[in-house]
Amino acid sequence: MNNFNENIKKYASLALNVGVNIQNGQTLIINSPIECAEFTRIVAKCAYEKGAKNVHVRWSDEDLALIKYLNAPDEAFDEFPKWEADGLEELAKNGAAFISISASNPELLKDVDSKRIAAANKARSLALKNYREYIMNSTVSWCVISIPTKAWAKKVFTDVSEDKAIQQLWDSIFKIVRVDNDDPIKAWNDHLNKLNHRVEFLNNKNFKSIHLKSKVTDLTIELPKDHLWAGGGEYNAKNTYFVANIPTEEVFTMPFKTGINGIVKNTKPFNYGGNLIDGFTLTFEDGKVVDFKAEVGYETLKKLLETDEGASYIGELALVAYDSPISNSNIVFYNTLFDENASCHLAFGMAYPTCIKNGTEMNSEELQKAGANNSLIHEDFMIGSADMNIIGETHEGEKIQIFKNGNWSL
Ligand code: ZN
Ligand code: ZN
Repeated sequence: MNNFNENIKKYASLALNVGVNIQNGQTLIINSPIECAEFTRIVAKCAYEKGAKNVHVRWSDEDLALIKYLNAPDEAFDEFPKWEADGLEELAKNGAAFISISASNPELLKDVDSKRIAAANKARSLALKNYREYIMNSTVSWCVISIPTKAWAKKVFTDVSEDKAIQQLWDSIFKIVRVDNDDPIKAWNDHLNKLNHRVEFLNNKNFKSIHLKSKVTDLTIELPKDHLWAGGGEYNAKNTYFVANIPTEEVFTMPFKTGINGIVKNTKPFNYGGNLIDGFTLTFEDGKVVDFKAEVGYETLKKLLETDEGASYIGELALVAYDSPISNSNIVFYNTLFDENASCHLAFGMAYPTCIKNGTEMNSEELQKAGANNSLIHEDFMIGSADMNIIGETHEGEKIQIFKNGNWSL
């Protein structure tokens, strides 16, 4: 038990030191499910010890969200509180740091009308547009982490008791986020260095296109002329280095919006706002999804693709070794933060402006002209597998193997 308490503290400290890299006098926002209150209090205490000025917590309650989905009138889902959106924008404008604890019940919304979910997601995205720019442009430090909740743990470990499931999920998380190391911060620095080397290699090659091939996927992705690969950590507008996802195993860039052709199949279930989509195949022509099938969640996928024009285009290509701590755990987490870091993935919707030279200084027209997709959504889905080979082609026509049988060959 002692070990457990120590790991919890190391984890909180990791989120603050490596994650948002909290600065003296800075305000911290923690987005936390109420079920995670105990851990959130530890993070808050640790933040004050590290010099944070104010720690504000935005509590969320899944059960209450479900009550609303099942009982509120339709029109309730077309609006998002302006005061909440304005508050977040103001905090971001003043340079606050944001930690979000992602721990949703993957089955929460399975009986909710997908029209309501789509409307709520859209209203939320529209209201938070300005705030999201601070996040997507990495103007402020932010970090997403996860801790077990009852429903989530039971979905991951189905055949054990609730207590056991929670314990097993904690153990898996500690291992995956390297908190079981004596010095997690050093372990993270080593890991971030490794990711940086790959980023540098890919940026030096300046590939014209990337070809992904496996038994179920055959996809060619053109990259914009001035694309940038990123991975590990990044610098915010105040030049503070932060790591937006703990864990993170990916190296990613933006595709050229209209330059994707071929077919791709997902390899892990995709949890879209509390709804599962699985067994889906997408056919791309000039960047757009022109045909799709899904064994699970067809209607949800259809709604997602119809969110706006950019939702049926791709905003991210991310490379993750099949042989990574998360995929080696052989656990399907039903949580994008973990599953996306276990597998190569694509994202429906908006591209990160940081993935193109001077992107954060461009307005949305300039970004679109450069080849970046724009949308209200950004949703990762997993496509990596043990038999995936990836080849990059340079502007000079040189072909370089990037992945062989699911793993980096660099
Ligand atoms: Zn990603
Ligand atoms: Zn993503």
